Amino acid sequence: MEQTYIDTIAAILQLQEHNPFAGIDSSEYPAVMAAHREAYPVSIRLNPYKTFQPEQAYERVPWCRYGYYLPERPVFTLDPLFHAGAYYVQEASSMFVGHVYDCIRAACTGPVKVLDLCAAPGGKSTLLASLLEDDDILVSNEVIQGRAGILVENMVRWGQANTWVLQNDPEMIGKSLENTFDIMLIDAPCTGSGLWRKDQAAIDEWSVQHVKLCAERQKRIIADSYAALTKDGYLVYATCSYSPEEDEALCDWITEHFDVTPVSIPFPPEWNIVKSYSSAHQAEGYHFYPWKLKGEGFFIAVFKKNDGTASPTDRKPGKKRTSKKPFVPAPAWEQYIDGSWHYELIREEIYAFPPHHYDFFEQIRDKVYIRKAGLKLGQETGRDVIPSHELALSIHLRKDLPAVALTREEALLFLKKEPVATDRGLKGWHTATYRGLPLGWGKWMPGRMNNYLPKHWRIRMDIG
Ligand code: SAM
Repeated sequence: MEQTYIDTIAAILQLQEHNPFAGIDSSEYPAVMAAHREAYPVSIRLNPYKTFQPEQAYERVPWCRYGYYLPERPVFTLDPLFHAGAYYVQEASSMFVGHVYDCIRAACTGPVKVLDLCAAPGGKSTLLASLLEDDDILVSNEVIQGRAGILVENMVRWGQANTWVLQNDPEMIGKSLENTFDIMLIDAPCTGSGLWRKDQAAIDEWSVQHVKLCAERQKRIIADSYAALTKDGYLVYATCSYSPEEDEALCDWITEHFDVTPVSIPFPPEWNIVKSYSSAHQAEGYHFYPWKLKGEGFFIAVFKKNDGTASPTDRKPGKKRTSKKPFVPAPAWEQYIDGSWHYELIREEIYAFPPHHYDFFEQIRDKVYIRKAGLKLGQETGRDVIPSHELALSIHLRKDLPAVALTREEALLFLKKEPVATDRGLKGWHTATYRGLPLGWGKWMPGRMNNYLPKHWRIRMDIG
């Protein structure tokens, strides 16, 4: 372990002003130091729609029904199950978002629209996706283009048609999607002090100036996007910073600037989560401290919005499309998905929407930049169809399709975009599967196979 990192923690603990650990009693400082000398726990969260038999019984993350600690960190890139979307590698404390969501979802009636405003790479979005009810929808937004691309990949891997991805700045979201969302998560960009032991180099970026800059940016993000929340909607604010300026002071600022009521989230005391109260308005917040529980530093607080409008009838309709004739896809698609869908042809690609989500798509498609919506089925070329990679990874894909079960070695070759199982006398489209979960499409012909894994999805690592 780099001595300078531990020395820097010790020096920061002594700061008289802007000390990120200011909310912690100095009697805990030895425990803070000890925690930063330890290795961080590795945890994953399972996809409830892509089940597989784990090789051993793992220790559970207490506050998340899908979360587990691993005894050591494997090379996730070399695990085909990771590429199949069977699990997401997520820091344990942040899985508490699921518990918060469960609590506030229980207080909402009817289907909800959920916005994850700062969503990349998708840790909290994949968690929220697993908790959606049938008619609910999750819109995950990320302003930075490259990060939005990674978010799309992770949401595609997770496999749900009711999870969409946007790429817009918060101001655009606030202006264009006024009174739209029942629940809005702002997992704000922050100084990240809570993650220092996972990324020790990040401590070098910490400065008082950076704390101030982050706090200002957090306020701007909230102010710009607040209008997107409906009346009686829930604002969930989270950071992975210990700094009171980014946590409790932000809660005071929210309470002062908006017509909101702080919301209390119940949880059992044995989880060792520390409650805090903002100094001016006593807004309740929840701290995760690595010296008290098995996870990294994390902060979360919840508010209920009292102003705005609740009724969807107040929402401005999007520009009317000229062609309202529903698109009729080729019958060949019936072998890939069943159930009732609304189909749409967009830039030569066929999309399927749960019918009750299509109106929402129409409502917002001209207002914001959408990177993923509904389920992309693929393309029609004459008599054939080319199923998309998104369809292979979709939980809506029919289970009775022709599939080729691969060994781990073959699966890794497939994920490197190399041909596999060319000697099995196969013909036509098959999913390439590993332990029952599709990894992508292959088209087999006598003696050969075309691997349809998208180029930018392929594993570039040496697989040995
Ligand atoms: N929620 C994510 C997860 O669980 O995987 C992590 C989000 S990370 C803490 C904050 C995100 O905010 C980053 O993806 C970052 O690109 C984005 N971001 C940075 N500046 C932003 C801004 N000015 N407005 C909105 N989002 C911003």
